[in-house]
Amino acid sequence: MTHPTTASAIRWEQDDEGVVTLVLDDPGQSANTMNAAFIDSLDAIADRVEAERDAIRGIIVTSAKKTFFAGGDLNDLIQVGPGQAQEVYEKNLRIKRALRRIETLGKPVVAAINGAALGGGLEIALACHHRIALDAPGARIGFPEVTLGLLPGSGGVARTVRLLGVTDALLKWLLQGTRYSPPRAQEAGLVHEVVTSREELLTRARAFIAAHPESAQPWDDKDYRIPGGTPAQPKFAVNLPAFPANLRKQLNGAPYPAQRNILAAAVEGSQVDFETAQTIEARYFTELVVGQTAKNMIQAFFFELQAVNSGVNRPQGIEPSQVRKVAVLGAGMMGAGIAFACAKAGIEVVLKDVSVEAAAKGKAYSEGLLAKALAKGRTTEAKRDQLLARITPTADPRDLEGCDAVIEAVFEDPALKHKVFQEIEGVIAPDALLCSNTSTLPITLLAEGVQRAEDFIGLHFFSPVDKMPLVEIIKGERTGDQALARAFDLVRQISKTPIVVNDSRGFFTSRVIGHFLNEGVAMVGEGIDPASVEQAAAQAGYPAKVLSLMDELTLTLPRKIREETRRATEEAGGEWRPHPADAVIDRMVEELGRPGRSGGAGFYDYDATTGKRAGLWPGLREHFAPGGSGDAAREGTRIPFEDMKERMLFCEAIDTVRLLEEGVLTSVADANIGSILGIGFPGWTGGVLQYINGYEGGVAGFVARARQLEAAYGERFAPPALLVEKAERGERFTD
Ligand code: NAD
Repeated sequence: MTHPTTASAIRWEQDDEGVVTLVLDDPGQSANTMNAAFIDSLDAIADRVEAERDAIRGIIVTSAKKTFFAGGDLNDLIQVGPGQAQEVYEKNLRIKRALRRIETLGKPVVAAINGAALGGGLEIALACHHRIALDAPGARIGFPEVTLGLLPGSGGVARTVRLLGVTDALLKWLLQGTRYSPPRAQEAGLVHEVVTSREELLTRARAFIAAHPESAQPWDDKDYRIPGGTPAQPKFAVNLPAFPANLRKQLNGAPYPAQRNILAAAVEGSQVDFETAQTIEARYFTELVVGQTAKNMIQAFFFELQAVNSGVNRPQGIEPSQVRKVAVLGAGMMGAGIAFACAKAGIEVVLKDVSVEAAAKGKAYSEGLLAKALAKGRTTEAKRDQLLARITPTADPRDLEGCDAVIEAVFEDPALKHKVFQEIEGVIAPDALLCSNTSTLPITLLAEGVQRAEDFIGLHFFSPVDKMPLVEIIKGERTGDQALARAFDLVRQISKTPIVVNDSRGFFTSRVIGHFLNEGVAMVGEGIDPASVEQAAAQAGYPAKVLSLMDELTLTLPRKIREETRRATEEAGGEWRPHPADAVIDRMVEELGRPGRSGGAGFYDYDATTGKRAGLWPGLREHFAPGGSGDAAREGTRIPFEDMKERMLFCEAIDTVRLLEEGVLTSVADANIGSILGIGFPGWTGGVLQYINGYEGGVAGFVARARQLEAAYGERFAPPALLVEKAERGERFTD
């Protein structure tokens, strides 16, 4: 017999044998989160288990929702201001205390993890003595906090470190935000058992309770020693790994406070008793919650990402669509990657190039990726074979019969792009969606080459396609809503994130990243030490250093784009303004014979046989030295390091505002998400427009700083009218 009583977010069910099942079931919510109702319920439950201790044989914690527990209440966390530190700290200790009271009851407590247990969910499970996870589809277990600029603050750091030792806790669980499937979570050490049915979940939980009537946590045993500690050492000491140095190297000075605080909470917490470790953790958690970075990251990686993926930019009222068979034209670097991404999503792919051999080479790219995945246990032979069977390499347009979408990825040449569409228009489905993966050419211009311009759209993928999560959808002047909705659905079908922009040269991403690259190059031209320029990019948080990225893309590409843009601007009666980087790039290519990595030499040297990148080319200092000679030339130009970082960040942010003014961008979320996922704008900022919102002093502070940079480094830093208006009105960039 069960006697259910309701304690708001946690239901108490007790059977005749004294086993209490605590069912996490926040009423009216689709998932359980660590909200105020839940925290109240947790306190009430802790009171009750203590009061009824003698009648309880054991406790099972499970959930009535699809997921076990979704984690912290992000709506709440994002609103916390710096003045609320004490409140956050006390609330955190309150959660910790309640979990601790249940954990130290002296009765077995089992987590029956029926679905995803992320963040706070995993922390609740760690406060239990035994964890059994149901291997349900999509169930993931992990600590994604770090990806939101937070740390697992409900005992997650303290307990993981005590279960696995500092090294494994940090590397496997805390620092990367990895979400494991239940079997992998078991391998990684935080799950004891994995079952395949809900029934078994509860049977095994009861079996554990029956077999362990007096469970306690290992750290509550008087002889407990942290894994990695040796008997000769004091109880809590561990052989500290070379983490601080390694992590610092990995972060390269980028401002990611979560990693730093997780590391500190883990290491400092490992030296002291459990209770003290919990307060250390609370302190570091609070610091993150009240800071700006967590807000930026929660806003971008949770709220805006969800909004963008769920279709805020998809035209309303158009039936969802699915692509069955796609034609990929051009089996080069991009075409091969696009073919893989589509086949992976279950779409039939016809991969066409000028010869069957070239097309087969494109398919071989998928074979290579799958061989690696197989070696790492990430796919099976059967799945590999199925995926490969979906890709048909060909040179014959007739094989494209019935394709309901086309993605063109041939060379960047308008005439060739027109030609390949003409070749196939009569063969594919009469209403097929027509997409081009051009990275720079106007979609409106390319649409002139097809019969159905309303079905023509830009689908800009990023390289390498299998890794890069973003696709920039570009609406041409004649693109119809139907095509936009279908393109959006296709991008979601292949599990990528779509942003939508209006047509313009370079769209959003290519144009803005161009400013970043130019700024780095311009600094070299001013005689600033190139190694410092690279370091500034890394410390600003860019994933790729600016000069090395320029080399990868080749210096000939921006020259070509510059020429085309100049011609188009002048033809349209506009004024062409050269960038200080132009002269440096021209000299590198023409005079110094260093066109970038593919040419064997660029800002860096490359090994002649292996092609591997060696150091920065020492000649840079000599050729781009400031005026003068002797010490002055050797020393180079010196500007504040902060200016170097901010020149890169500001030029991208300022041009993004111009793109909003021009109507190329129509949503703040698109700008933020696109900048982080597409062009490596540092994630800690929450995206290129959130960087402006979150700048010290807000938008007005950003404008004031832009004016300083303008005075020191040129008119490209002049704040655009929209930015100034926002500052004057005290507004932020939001949708
Ligand atoms: P690539 O040179 O690697 O591949 C182009 C392929 O097109 C070659 O295999 C070529 O044989 C094939 N091709 C040429 N003429 C053809 C025809 N008539 N029919 C069928 N195939 C033909 O180029 P890529 O880097 O894959 O770029 C392709 C497109 O994607 C370009 O428009 C480029 O601007 C764009 N793009 C590139 C990147 C990038 O990072 N490389 C990123 C985004 C978009």
